[in-house]
Amino acid sequence: MDIVFSTFNARYSHTALALRCLPANLGDLHDRSVIVEFDNRLSPQAAAEKLLAHDPKIILFSIYIWNLVITYETVAILRTLRPSLKIIIGGPEVSYIYADLLIYPLIDHLVCGEGEGVIEQLCRDLLVSQASRLPCPSSVLQASLSPCLNPVPQASSLPCFNPVQEVRQSRRKNIPHWTQTDCTYFVTFRLADSIAQSRISEYKELREKWKEHHQPPCTESEQAQFDELFSERVNNWLDEGAGACILCKPEISKIVTDTLTHFDGEHYELDEWVIMPNHVHTLVTPLPGFELKDILHSWKSYSAHAINKITGQTGAVWKHESYDHIVRDHEELNRIRLYIRNNPAKAGCSAEIRQGKRDACDTLAVPQASRLPCLESSLPKVIEAPPADLKHIALPYDEYTDEDIAHRRIYVETARGCPFKCEYCLSALEPNVRFFPPERIFPMFGKLIERGVRIFKLLDRSFNINTAHAAAVLRFFLENRRDGMMLHLEWEPERLSPVLEKLIAGAPPGFLQLEVGVQTFNAEVAARIERPLDAEKVEAHIRTLAALPSVHLHADLIAGLPGETFDSIAAGFDRLHACGPHEIQLGILKKLRGAPIARHDVEWQMVYNTSPPYDVLQTATLNFVDLQRIRRFARFWDIIVNNGRFPETSKLIWQNLPSVFGAFMEWSEWVYQQTHVTFGFTPARLAQLLEQFLTEQRGFSAKTVRHAIDADLAARSPVAKGMERQTRKR
Ligand code: SF4
Repeated sequence: MDIVFSTFNARYSHTALALRCLPANLGDLHDRSVIVEFDNRLSPQAAAEKLLAHDPKIILFSIYIWNLVITYETVAILRTLRPSLKIIIGGPEVSYIYADLLIYPLIDHLVCGEGEGVIEQLCRDLLVSQASRLPCPSSVLQASLSPCLNPVPQASSLPCFNPVQEVRQSRRKNIPHWTQTDCTYFVTFRLADSIAQSRISEYKELREKWKEHHQPPCTESEQAQFDELFSERVNNWLDEGAGACILCKPEISKIVTDTLTHFDGEHYELDEWVIMPNHVHTLVTPLPGFELKDILHSWKSYSAHAINKITGQTGAVWKHESYDHIVRDHEELNRIRLYIRNNPAKAGCSAEIRQGKRDACDTLAVPQASRLPCLESSLPKVIEAPPADLKHIALPYDEYTDEDIAHRRIYVETARGCPFKCEYCLSALEPNVRFFPPERIFPMFGKLIERGVRIFKLLDRSFNINTAHAAAVLRFFLENRRDGMMLHLEWEPERLSPVLEKLIAGAPPGFLQLEVGVQTFNAEVAARIERPLDAEKVEAHIRTLAALPSVHLHADLIAGLPGETFDSIAAGFDRLHACGPHEIQLGILKKLRGAPIARHDVEWQMVYNTSPPYDVLQTATLNFVDLQRIRRFARFWDIIVNNGRFPETSKLIWQNLPSVFGAFMEWSEWVYQQTHVTFGFTPARLAQLLEQFLTEQRGFSAKTVRHAIDADLAARSPVAKGMERQTRKR
């Protein structure tokens, strides 16, 4: 097979939907492709062997937080064995921050975003380039670049930061500026009313804290840290669309467009630019004899004058200070181009946005006769895939094999994107919610039901975000269900419309597995990370849903969020437990690559593991030891409570005690002191430990404890019961 789609799943029972979406959209190349999935236990050597057995020309890997390391090791082997093999990667773990990854230099292409719209053309171009690997004339090269690939342009001849050349540092309005001759700058300027006063106060406060620890002149790494902390934060605020947003008006954005482009090629070279509703981003290279500050001054003063003339206003149009940043290298150039290009989608702009894009062909310097690039190097390394058109892309469900259906979990989706911006989550960076038309997906789901699928796991980020859509999907599954069928949904806990509640209440027992992300009950922390929280509503909805026989409710909390303390985690856990969910998962915060939560790193002294899964190790308000205690607590809660093995006995752990969290933490600490491990327990060993703890530490009579344990064992198979009793006696 010429093309292999591959990934490492967390378990054999999982399937990767993304891997099936790509071959479904390969057109007539589909029959030259195959899906090869592994689980994480396979060695990289064995995976490489299985992949090469297909004698592929192209291998595509889908990368997630759990498989980054093993994918890297596999790619390293493949690259050594088959240098000419084309290796493409994609997936959330590599879509936002990738240049520092060990895998990045080893691969040929990275597809950022949803790959359906670009995959066929990319594979076609690579197969052609492999068939003809001789240097080729530039005309062929340009013809081969498919416009629909929407590539991030090749790093062009634009000048970037030169580490050995003199750098001039200055501070205007407390913002550090670096300048250097012959450089490209990323510049942002904004309307005078573009950021709310409360944000400005927050910004000033943070900046003061920063200045306490960073005296000028700042080093390159301090400058980078400043950029990460402050410019990203300000950009996010700008995207909130505060102020009058007059740049939305066509006549005003035209003035700014004309101003920007007026001296393009004479005083400066413009690269990508975008005029957002309340700010402007551009990449600009001053030409010899022209200074960035003068260019900015002339842009702002000329356009302000013209805008005031149209609006009849007087006074400042633009905020006096602008943000500028020297582009360090070509990787960064590409990243900034992507940022500018995606800014309207990221901000969810519905207005018509004026944007200047560099065409890929324009960015290639006219080659010298002796330096003609070959065809294969003409494709950009990083390809920005635009959001897929859900009305037209081919659907992936026929890619599920009979073996998948018989033995593995089947994932489907009815929507993509999320309206929320929780900062620990990469969905916060995706475009707004888009729905698959029901008339496209329902017939496919019907076929899967006929083929015997029993458990449908929907990947929709917040299933219930749109009542009409969610109700239509629920009705479809209820009307077409077979006995024993189940739906697994991610549920946004603040919303429970009467329509959906009625539908759920009418579903058969156990039909729905709902996963609700509560994450924190601490209002300050929730606001800090942009997580919506109406705690009373969340509690009420969880109580209602958990009480319905049709629902099995799993609720998530996150430990280690910026500013969250041990006590507030304990209080949140108790509050959630009182609502009666069937399972509580207390997860540890992970810093996903590119997630906006990074902006809190300095202020809240967030220390993360440097390897996947980048879990938090300590924060300003939660030390390492307490986080370790919480990790163990979560593990023991899983194996004692969540898996339903000791429903009666576990209640004795917290019976008559004021805090479930506090009581279970005591058990967790005790069992760890006895065993020094958190894994490898048989049910019988757990029963033995519970018996000892409850009698010796809690003072229950042996009879009471034995009664509870026997009641729990009675619900288990006779063989298991016998074995557990024997072990306890010993
Ligand atoms: S955590 Fe959930 S609600 Fe928040 S952005 Fe991510 S998917 Fe959306």
